[in-house]
Amino acid sequence: MKKYLTGLLALALLASCQEKVEVMEPEPVSGEPQPIVHEEYQGEEPTTPEETEFYEPVPPTVQPYAQGGAPSDAVVLFDGSGFENWQMVNDSSDVKWHLNDDGSMTVADKTGDIQTKQEFGDIQLHLEWRSPAEIGGDGQHRANSGVFLCGIYEVQVLDNNDNDTYVNGQVASIYKQHVPLAKASVPTGEWNTYDIIFHMPEFNEAGEKIKSGTLTVIHNGVLVQDHVELKGTTPYIGWPDNPPHGKGPLRLQDHGDNSRVSYRNIWVREL
Ligand code: MG
Repeated sequence: MKKYLTGLLALALLASCQEKVEVMEPEPVSGEPQPIVHEEYQGEEPTTPEETEFYEPVPPTVQPYAQGGAPSDAVVLFDGSGFENWQMVNDSSDVKWHLNDDGSMTVADKTGDIQTKQEFGDIQLHLEWRSPAEIGGDGQHRANSGVFLCGIYEVQVLDNNDNDTYVNGQVASIYKQHVPLAKASVPTGEWNTYDIIFHMPEFNEAGEKIKSGTLTVIHNGVLVQDHVELKGTTPYIGWPDNPPHGKGPLRLQDHGDNSRVSYRNIWVREL
């Protein structure tokens, strides 16, 4: 019995010591970066190659050019055949933009923005756009359009060749939030590509943002937005706003000043 009680006492002492040790650990200093510990690589280090080789889960197989240039698992939003996946933003009516014989579409001036009927969250987006070879207008009024993720976050489309404007509103900017890392436009009148990776912001039940959205943009193969933080919406006037939202449409802009911007080959992969 005495041994048993002594054992209990020893255990209790040990527990209390451990508690004390835990309490005495230094509190992280607010704002100071903490060392990163990868828990999965703690413990005894493997000594054979097989111990660090995994066979599951197996990633899906995707055919990269299965649908006329789009990957086999992509949602093709525009392949030149028609506007069945799109509608006018203002009244959800049929698209009034021009459908061209070469498989592209062109903004019909002052008809309004268009958007997809389907809504998307996190996506990889591919599209191609072209400013008209015959230039018109200056600054923000030369082939201004835009690609809006979730309908409210704009990646700028603009003919910036020999055409300066404010840099946080230039081609491939996150409009009035992030200046692109480079200007990678092709000559005016030729087709540009945008490859965009978008992650939505997250909101709590009170409608407050608890995690910012992010955007990565590759313009003609050049990284121009490197996983930048979305600070909110991208208004022309005023601060970014952060209305709570879920999935939203992909929206293309009619700037209303004879932009004549064309688009083609638009597809998304949901992430
Ligand atoms: Mg624009």
